[in-house]
Amino acid sequence: MNATAPGAVIGSVMGEPSATGRFGQFGGRYVPESLVPACAALEAAFRDAWADPAFHERLARLRSEFAGRPTALTPALNLSAQLGVTLLLKREDLAHTGSHKINNVLGQALLAQRMGKTHLIAETGAGQHGVATATAAALFGMRATVYMGERDIARQQLNVFRMELLGAEVIPVTSGSRTLKDATNEAMRAWVAAVDEAHFCLGSVGGPHPYPWLVRELQRVIGEEARAQVPATPDVVVACVGGGSNAAGTFAGFVDTPARLIGVEAAGGAAMTDGRPGVVHGYRSLVLQDDDGQVLEAESIAAGLDYPGVGPEHAHLGTTGRAEYRTVTDGEVLDAVRRLARSEGIICALESAHAVAWVLRAAGTPDLPTGSTVLLTLSGRGDKDMATLAGEVR
Ligand SMILES: *Cc1c(COP(=O)(O)O)cnc(C)c1O
Repeated sequence: MNATAPGAVIGSVMGEPSATGRFGQFGGRYVPESLVPACAALEAAFRDAWADPAFHERLARLRSEFAGRPTALTPALNLSAQLGVTLLLKREDLAHTGSHKINNVLGQALLAQRMGKTHLIAETGAGQHGVATATAAALFGMRATVYMGERDIARQQLNVFRMELLGAEVIPVTSGSRTLKDATNEAMRAWVAAVDEAHFCLGSVGGPHPYPWLVRELQRVIGEEARAQVPATPDVVVACVGGGSNAAGTFAGFVDTPARLIGVEAAGGAAMTDGRPGVVHGYRSLVLQDDDGQVLEAESIAAGLDYPGVGPEHAHLGTTGRAEYRTVTDGEVLDAVRRLARSEGIICALESAHAVAWVLRAAGTPDLPTGSTVLLTLSGRGDKDMATLAGEVR
């Protein structure tokens, strides 16, 4: 049950990071002095909880009784026949609140409660992480404050309403590109100001140590369930990458197999492809930046992938060659949403459609030869994207 099994080798692939929170040359803890004790306390609480069978038991119960796990593994029979590959979908869209975000948030809320915190602060892009945080706060009787860029508020109205209905306070962020990057800055600032009673409930595998490790371990359930559900080791494991949490959780279940691991980014937010080493939001990774090191704005039709950084472990997996990264365009993504909907009866999130779009493009090419078996993590459902899709897809 323990995600990092006792005795796991430190520094092994997708095991524990170094003592300073490094995955190779990436990761670390680049935070203001005032946050160092909070990060250290969170790391200590996580180590303690992760070694406690009672914590794992509570988390397992929440996953099954509240979040609806294990999620299904669905063979995409029609697309498979059309494409000449065997496509298996890991259905995180079926998890409570509509995406994989709930896996991370339930674990962090349990940790926050264990640390005596009463307030969850979160950043959100498409709003899925905000909704998951608001949901956990309601369940645990905690206060929730969610920072969201003004531009994302405008394109994800449904999720704003869901958060408010759940009792969370949604704070519009008007700085910069008014998207996830800016919301993350504001949420970290709010954490500094309320660090005694508040837990910063970070939504992906970025941020200062221990977040990239903590969030990957909480998302590992995706990969471990899928590993038990697939009839045989797939040739390729693919997931979309924004910050990289659904991909990291999926990859963790297969990193010790011969499966190729492929992360798919938005062409307008491709830190793995276009980024250079730099520091953003408390960690060192590959970051979209200009020649002066100024962080650039990302641009994607999927609010959840509109982010200039990427989790440090992905930077490490990419640099060492264990995982590969691809990009797809907004146009390919819209086609993929429609094709999956019409051939399988599943309307996926714009983010998840990035992974589908890569399979559609690559099937039958040397990148994904005919006859391959592909496990694809469908990170979320498309309800939140209906307004965007209504204007683009007919
Ligand atoms: C948040 C989100 C993503 C991007 O986040 P990762 O950390 O890269 O997983 C992808 N898909 C959906 C449905 C999301 O809500």
